[in-house]
Amino acid sequence: MQTDCIFCKIIQGDIPSTKVYEDDDVLAFLDISQTTPGHTLLIPKKHIENIFEYDDELASRVLTKIPMIARAIKQSDPAIKGLNILNNNGEEAYQSVFHSHIHFVPRFTRDNDDFSMHFTDNSAKYSATDLNEIAAKIRTNLEV
Ligand code: AMP
Ligand code: ZN
Repeated sequence: MQTDCIFCKIIQGDIPSTKVYEDDDVLAFLDISQTTPGHTLLIPKKHIENIFEYDDELASRVLTKIPMIARAIKQSDPAIKGLNILNNNGEEAYQSVFHSHIHFVPRFTRDNDDFSMHFTDNSAKYSATDLNEIAAKIRTNLEV
């Protein structure tokens, strides 16, 4: 519990929320912005800032709930054809609430709503060597 955290206040019940799921470890509630109808957030009850702070134990308690929440949202409305799952970490990644959260954004059509999930294609700028160098740096930092 962090006193100045809006999501901790939601967990405590000090700020109202529209809950969709709760257990000892997590809370899922509607995102106030409702980017598309059904836009939901899943948060750990333990205050951690971002993905970098999960240990395996907390991850298994929290992140394993993602498919269950995803299925419930999908099944809640036959008009929901797809679902984007997003997680912003750090200001540079457009995180605005610094209590870790997973976004579930239902998709009704590809382009008939306010939200587009578009990854820039920079593939032409990278050689196989460039890709191998990037991957090698990541591999040497895996905690396995
Ligand atoms: P992010 O930009 O990834 O940190 O997302 C933070 C999200 O929290 C935004 O989509 C906000 O709409 C949402 N949010 C902020 N305050 C509340 C609140 N009181 N209840 C529900 N959602 C909230
Ligand atoms: Zn918090």
